[in-house]
Amino acid sequence: MTLNRRHFLQVTAGATAAGVVGFPHIASSAGTKKVVVIGGGTGGATAAKYLRMADPSIEVTLIEAEEYHYTCYLSNEVLSGDRKLESIKVAYDGLKKHGINVVKAKATAIDGDAKKVTVDTGDTFIYDRLIVSPGVSLDYSKIEGYSAEAAQKIPHAWKAGEQTKILRSQLEAMKDGGTVIISAPPNPFRCPPGPYERASQVAHYLKQHKPKSKVLILDSKDKFSKQGLFTQGWTDLYGYGTDNSMIEWVPAAEGGKVISADAGNMQIIAGDLEDEHTADVINIIPPQKAGQIALDAGLADESGWCPVNKKTFESSLIPNIHVIGDACIATKMPKSGYAANSQGKVVAVAVAAALSGKEMVEPSYVNTCYSIIGEDYGISVAAVYRLDGDVIAPVKGAGGLTPKDATAEHRKREVQFAYSWYDNIVQDSFN
Ligand SMILES: Cc1cc2nc3c(=O)[nH]c(=O)nc-3n(C[C@H](O)[C@H](O)[C@H](O)COP(=O)(O)OP(=O)(O)OC[C@H]3O[C@@H](n4cnc5c(N)ncnc54)[C@H](O)[C@@H]3O)c2cc1C
Repeated sequence: MTLNRRHFLQVTAGATAAGVVGFPHIASSAGTKKVVVIGGGTGGATAAKYLRMADPSIEVTLIEAEEYHYTCYLSNEVLSGDRKLESIKVAYDGLKKHGINVVKAKATAIDGDAKKVTVDTGDTFIYDRLIVSPGVSLDYSKIEGYSAEAAQKIPHAWKAGEQTKILRSQLEAMKDGGTVIISAPPNPFRCPPGPYERASQVAHYLKQHKPKSKVLILDSKDKFSKQGLFTQGWTDLYGYGTDNSMIEWVPAAEGGKVISADAGNMQIIAGDLEDEHTADVINIIPPQKAGQIALDAGLADESGWCPVNKKTFESSLIPNIHVIGDACIATKMPKSGYAANSQGKVVAVAVAAALSGKEMVEPSYVNTCYSIIGEDYGISVAAVYRLDGDVIAPVKGAGGLTPKDATAEHRKREVQFAYSWYDNIVQDSFN
């Protein structure tokens, strides 16, 4: 499906009218209602802000473990050196201006019966409704030899901040002619196009500064998001498919699935034949599950992700708790920042309605993911969604991909769209 941008904008404008511009103001009737939000990333920040907009009488407390949030989106550009880590750092002053009580602490327990959250300082917070948006946890156990300690030498960089810094400095220190391994996880995981955008950004850096070097992607899958557009970009920019390609992709069927990692010897074992790979820089993006607090609270099912009512994002397992963002099962929305932002708005309306005894309206949802493959070379995928039974289904004709035959000017504009998308999503979620 090819994206007709005018049509897409028309449809999203309709979706936005319900979700943002005409955001329903729902006043509650009796007593001060308390909502606690765990996680001040994209999902939690948006939910907290939009809840206060929907009903300013609700007391909203946001519990976030870190003092600052580093957005994962555009963190791949930090790896190429095109952007500084500081440029993706977000503070919480904007949310405080909305009257949100921002608490810097780690939530350690949720008591669904007592409707109470405990944090690492020992403080407790009582709620009428709880919104949980803790992002993902990294499942180190699936790769022998990999662990939080090993990630200091073989970073995942799948949570932006310190890990991004480690990977960037390793790339800077690498000799020309070196090999960078990126191991891509099985589905489902945070940001489906992310590993391939990362490979592109690393190649973009190497092409300018260490042109004899290579990126080897070892994949636990046989296909990936926006594959046709990525491989086209790699062909145009990095010689993909030739003997001199800067990027090589090994699918699971050809031995790409990483089994074990040896940080001491910078060695990886992958595939059924247990092929050995050594590299100068290794980036393992491990399999993922819902954020630890969601697992500990019993909000996840056997898949490791949290089942929810897709109209309200209320947990299917524990009442009065809503789970949004990467941690929840929001089939068919991807685990993306834009999806988390969209779900944050939906849950704000749902919680405000529930607390004032009103019916939840029929929501609409939206997602766009940009990927920057190289200089002046961007691609995107977009969709508007509506609820169809128990599925958040894409609306036909209201989205699509960058066309394969896009002009150079079009690809250049996609990069500018990506940057303005970034400014808008940060403003909308955190300010
Ligand atoms: C390299 C990369 C590139 C990406 N690019 C894009 C992109 O271009 N577009 C896009 O839409 N998405 C992108 N994403 C995906 C996007 O970053 C995530 O989908 C999004 O951040 C999910 O939001 P969230 O609220 O679920 O989790 P997060 O944003 O991760 O927020 C979770 C927050 O919860 C906090 N937390 C966790 N547990 C606790 C606890 N127990 N107590 C207190 N606080 C806690 C964490 O500190 C964190 O701040 C990218 C991701 C990566 C890794």
